[in-house]
Amino acid sequence: MNTIEIIRKKRDKKSLSNEEIEFLISSYTKGKIPDYQFSAFLMAAFLNGLNKTETAALTKAMLYSGKIVDLSSIKGLKVDKHSTGGVGDKTSLIIAPIAAAAGVYVPMISGRGLGHTGGTLDKLESIPGFRTELNLNQYEKVLKKTGAVLIGQTKEIAPADKLIYSLRDVTATVEAIPLITGSIMSKKLAEGIDSLVLDVKTGNGAFMKEMEDAIDLANSLSETAKAFGKKCIAFITDMNQPLGNYIGNWLEVVESIQVLRNGKKNDLTELSLILAGAMIFLGKKSKSLEEGIEKAITILNSGKAFNKFLEIVKAQGGNISYLEDPEKYPKSNYNKQIKLMNEGYLSFVNTYEIGMAAIDLGAGRLKKEDKIDPKAGIIFNFKVGDKIRKADVIAEVFSDSKEKIKLAENRILKAVRLSNKQIKSPNLIKEIIN
Ligand code: URA
Repeated sequence: MNTIEIIRKKRDKKSLSNEEIEFLISSYTKGKIPDYQFSAFLMAAFLNGLNKTETAALTKAMLYSGKIVDLSSIKGLKVDKHSTGGVGDKTSLIIAPIAAAAGVYVPMISGRGLGHTGGTLDKLESIPGFRTELNLNQYEKVLKKTGAVLIGQTKEIAPADKLIYSLRDVTATVEAIPLITGSIMSKKLAEGIDSLVLDVKTGNGAFMKEMEDAIDLANSLSETAKAFGKKCIAFITDMNQPLGNYIGNWLEVVESIQVLRNGKKNDLTELSLILAGAMIFLGKKSKSLEEGIEKAITILNSGKAFNKFLEIVKAQGGNISYLEDPEKYPKSNYNKQIKLMNEGYLSFVNTYEIGMAAIDLGAGRLKKEDKIDPKAGIIFNFKVGDKIRKADVIAEVFSDSKEKIKLAENRILKAVRLSNKQIKSPNLIKEIIN
């Protein structure tokens, strides 16, 4: 097969055969196609798209570039959740223990923070001792023992994605629905799952800012899941404000504990119960989504989910005494309470800017090699629609550097708008695609 011919075909808006796609992916993964040619293919695919058959072929080729974990020795359905990324989204820490406590196996391979969004791995690694770099044997062992496991991508899982993602990152070809689909689904299908819950975010803090794009991505992901024989429920959810109130790695663990142990009720709890309910339903531990949500509520209220969280953290080497007593965690050198000069109803939050303020404070990376400060972050006290008075602390920021505190404060002050009129809070769940 001729690489130039295949690139030309896509450039001219023609469809590629399964064999042509398989040839491109396997040759590139083996180092037989140079970056400049693969970049040309990526840009042609970005501009001219890939149809459903091509997207399925791309996913398959990326999936088979590595191993598919065989979890058949574990009897029971395995269900994971994938979120397309947001600010303050720590649902994985809450739903994995709820679903596992309901008897569903949860094999989760997660990512690090990307751009302004946080990543589950960084949050988990803020727990002293927690190991996310388990090999596939250890992955299976922890899953069998506790019912859930949360690790990072290993070198055996979809190696094509690792290579292609780095190239997309530097060739302005990230935001293409077929390429995102191949990237996400090749990793998820390799985990050994039976079913998948998708949380596709939309709004000013999401990668898919427009609802139409979020729907297209959700359809593309769920059609691809189904093409591989996996059941899937996709939720389109709001990311026009941070999820929950805490942003930053250890802070997000703390808020997860507040939900799991102390019954904190907010949008984070609401979304977590819906996603966990969907996992329980797909794991056949309930007859309907509604019954799954009821089960999730009962498990959360019983304290079983918090105990399961401790069990999972312990199995992955984490020191659970910090979860039992979060106050003993080291504190940032500086903190500042941010107040507004006027009052009114919170009408707009630039969630991207709030995510960037957390990065300013040290909670995320600007370059791949940057080190994260697990203590750094923001407690954002209000939700869109809330009444704010002059004396109210809209947010509190934490960092080891005074300069970083100042930067973040400026960003947060510019990221919020107040209105004299009462504002309706946005719907958390925009759509369900089954
Ligand atoms: N997350 C992924 O894993 N891949 C993408 O392409 C985008 C988001």
